[in-house]
Amino acid sequence: MQLGLTEEQELLRRSIREFAEAELRPHVMEWDEAQEYPRELLAKFAALGLMGIQFPEAYGGSGMSAVDYCLCIEELARVDPSVCLSVAAHNGLGAAHIFLFGSEAQKQRFLVPLATGRQLAAWGLTEASAGSDAAAMRTAAVRDGDDWVINGTKQFITHGHSGDLIVVMAVTNRAKGNRGISAFIVEHGTPGFRAGKKENKLGMRASETSEVIFENCRVPADQMLGAEGQGFINALQVLDAGRIGIAALSVGLAQGAYDAARDYAFMRKQFGQAIGTFQSIRAKLVDNAVRIEGARLLTYRAAAMKDEGRRTTLEAAMAKLYSSEIAVRAAEDGVQIHGGYGFVKDYPAEKFFRDVKLTTIGEGTSEIQRLVIARQLLAS
Ligand SMILES: Cc1cc2nc3c(=O)[nH]c(=O)nc-3n(C[C@H](O)[C@H](O)[C@H](O)COP(=O)(O)OP(=O)(O)OC[C@H]3O[C@@H](n4cnc5c(N)ncnc54)[C@H](O)[C@@H]3O)c2cc1C
Repeated sequence: MQLGLTEEQELLRRSIREFAEAELRPHVMEWDEAQEYPRELLAKFAALGLMGIQFPEAYGGSGMSAVDYCLCIEELARVDPSVCLSVAAHNGLGAAHIFLFGSEAQKQRFLVPLATGRQLAAWGLTEASAGSDAAAMRTAAVRDGDDWVINGTKQFITHGHSGDLIVVMAVTNRAKGNRGISAFIVEHGTPGFRAGKKENKLGMRASETSEVIFENCRVPADQMLGAEGQGFINALQVLDAGRIGIAALSVGLAQGAYDAARDYAFMRKQFGQAIGTFQSIRAKLVDNAVRIEGARLLTYRAAAMKDEGRRTTLEAAMAKLYSSEIAVRAAEDGVQIHGGYGFVKDYPAEKFFRDVKLTTIGEGTSEIQRLVIARQLLAS
């Protein structure tokens, strides 16, 4: 068993950290307040290979491993979790679905522009009344000649406005339940497809989230992604890998909150000494450091198993559940260690505290991760 990173991976971590400190850190609050995805980042991310991290070079990707992917995501989230969420959603949901289940022609046409950062992907599973129970979706597609006609509304879609295309799940045969759902690639600009209400969010505000609406939206049959009726099953496989990304995002966010709190603790003096010398503050820092390391190991284990081509349903859910919950704790302790300065926007603790809550909700809530884990571990 090998637990260490290779020299190349250490170098990758350092280079993404330097990039995040130089290119993201100065703009974090400006992007948070604007509540718009800073599209100018696409070219910068693409130059580092971050728009197609795990896709082969033949499709414009960087051909990195799942462990490398975690390092990239961690280092982005350590500085700006919301911009990182966009990178994770693009790579891990929309683009990944096309890579995993697209035909060669679909990969050449749709994946290459995504992986090279010319375009941004969205992924639409959730609906207003079908969140955790996503298979209860109402959005439907009906075959009409050589086309499919899609009607329905998706909710909480990352890049609903800014995305260039969406992979959308729709019912194609209601009688077959979750085996009657298919996936489609729909490009922005297709008549009948538009972005709806943009959400005004607590956190992750630089990653824009909105409704997307399909009204008699006609797509050619060759834009069905994967086999008819397999869209939901395939979406669950996409989520297995996507959850490793959210686990890595949580680890990075927790590390960012911890680093900020540690630095502050040795800068801030009360009672004539740095607050970082008080035992109760040291205990908070130490307990967070231990939990972050545990979460990191769970996350890397799931990623390493993915790299070995093994199924990761259990390990990804464990990594996502634990990492997101300890990240919430790290962000909360970060605010506490900053005292009143944790409650204002001049220090990063406040934003970590707002951003972190998404990690226990997106790509399956903590309660749903426990259901997934229970299904794998416990009989009946
Ligand atoms: C910022 C953001 C970005 C997102 N991006 C995307 C995206 O790009 N694409 C996409 O498709 N979706 C996206 N989502 C949607 C996200 O995946 C859902 O919000 C999430 O799956 C939960 O669904 P819900 O919000 O409908 O909550 P609900 O399912 O209504 O859950 C409400 C509560 O009930 C609990 N609950 C539900 N069922 C059970 C159960 N069986 N047992 C125990 N507890 C249960 C939940 O855990 C939760 O605590 C995004 C959401 C947000 C907030």
